[in-house]
Amino acid sequence: MRPLRNFGFIIDNRRCIGCHACTVACKSEHDVAVGVNRTWVKYIEKGEFPNSQRLFSVMRCNHCDNAPCVEICPVTALYRRDDGIVDFDNRRCIGCKACMQACPYDALYIDPKTHTAAKCNYCAHRIDAGLEPACVNVCPTQAIVSGDLNDPNARIAQLKDEQNVVARKVEKGTVPALFYIDADNDSLDPLATDAGDNYMWGGQTSGVGHFAHDSANGDEHVLEKFGRLLSFGESSTKLDREVATSLRDQMAGPTKRAYDAPQKGILWGWQVSGYLWTKSIAAGVIIAVVLAKFISAGLASTGLDIFASVVGLVFLGLTGALLVWDLDKPTRFLYVLLRPQWKSWLVRGAYIITVYSVLLVSNLLVCLAGYSLGMLFDLALLISAMLTAIYTAFLFAQARGRSFWQSRTVPLHMVTHAVINGAAFLLLFAGNVGESYVQYLCYLLCVTALIQLVITMVELFLPHGDQESRLVVNSIVAGKYSRLFWGVAIAAGTIVPLLGLMLFPQTSQIIAGTLFLFGVFTSQHIWVRAPQQIPLS
Ligand code: SF4
Repeated sequence: MRPLRNFGFIIDNRRCIGCHACTVACKSEHDVAVGVNRTWVKYIEKGEFPNSQRLFSVMRCNHCDNAPCVEICPVTALYRRDDGIVDFDNRRCIGCKACMQACPYDALYIDPKTHTAAKCNYCAHRIDAGLEPACVNVCPTQAIVSGDLNDPNARIAQLKDEQNVVARKVEKGTVPALFYIDADNDSLDPLATDAGDNYMWGGQTSGVGHFAHDSANGDEHVLEKFGRLLSFGESSTKLDREVATSLRDQMAGPTKRAYDAPQKGILWGWQVSGYLWTKSIAAGVIIAVVLAKFISAGLASTGLDIFASVVGLVFLGLTGALLVWDLDKPTRFLYVLLRPQWKSWLVRGAYIITVYSVLLVSNLLVCLAGYSLGMLFDLALLISAMLTAIYTAFLFAQARGRSFWQSRTVPLHMVTHAVINGAAFLLLFAGNVGESYVQYLCYLLCVTALIQLVITMVELFLPHGDQESRLVVNSIVAGKYSRLFWGVAIAAGTIVPLLGLMLFPQTSQIIAGTLFLFGVFTSQHIWVRAPQQIPLS
């Protein structure tokens, strides 16, 4: 039986003249807005005059066989057709931008007109009509070859067999269906050239979608301003520049980006750090309260059960509000529950939160009525709280474009952050719950904060296998985020409250609890933000 069709592209760099006809044809065919691109031509320049060269690379969706954008999409707005084309349906898209985090090739953008994700769809409507994609049709040198990679008679399949072809970032496991002949590694590797603002379109800070205002080239986040204040007046606020400098230092020869699409900057901003923080409080208060009951019957308290359930529900409500706020199509937020794509951890997370909410309401009502649902129910509550705390780690792992988020320690971070936040929050209100309960909370906080400290140091100081992660680590421990990280997340947000609770347990509870809460937020903010400033194309 003949294998299924598998449409792909070959870009023949021996023929490409960098004329941008493909970009223009694509814009025209799909009415692509100004400032965003489904396909574009990146120029780099190498060498020194007179031995210099300008090289062109056509960039677009790779129509991956194992497409992470499809896997992470919560509502099947992105899907792979039987012929291998990865297409999208903007009537379903909720604008969560998870696909943009998952795609290692920077192929997606948010359409400023529809506020939904879009990308090259191989001109699927033209393929269905027996035509070639518009870019292939218009290319004056036949540098773009389309066709069925599984058809041995197709030119694309023959070229792939005959020529020495390469694909981008195969180590990501995406199985791309776009290959380059005569590829130049410095063109294809986004970390091989300066991704700062000194190439054509590199300085564009608006018109590239909703997130431009929050991008690496745009406004500074308030916490970063705070971090800069801690640096006593350092003026540079652009990680891109810092990354660029670091890359330049590592490069063997003078190679520069001359023309490219603008970097998209921060896609998941403070709402996502905020949602991690509120979610960790919602989960953490119940984890702390139920653990106390399992440790000693003397620590059981109906009043605390009620208080923790109310706090859990309020902070879950805030979590939901932040999640919806971050969507570019907020009115479609219910699609996550009603049109689920079950492989996406956004969907699994939404259902986990829903189950947790139901358990919290049940716990609250039963406690208010003066009853108890027993240890088995407590166990269910504890498990659902843990899952609520942890599921985002698996969502981040599905965001395969960001190497730093692939770390196995992320789930541990999320659990420890939840316990710290939950215990710290309870400590703020623990004045009248008894000496032994306060002691328990202080002990829990100290142990968990120490574990968190160890995990963080292991994460940052064990060697990282890829350059993207190394750049992120460098930005955290010695670069743009270093003051925020060492000064706020570690010193003020962990060590000071830890010492306070150990040395002055009676008097430092309120201050220590507040500092722990602030420290966790800062740490989550850095972990969400820093990896997004590494260029993907
Ligand atoms: Fe295209 Fe990126 Fe999805 Fe691969 S992951 S199919 S390159 S959008």
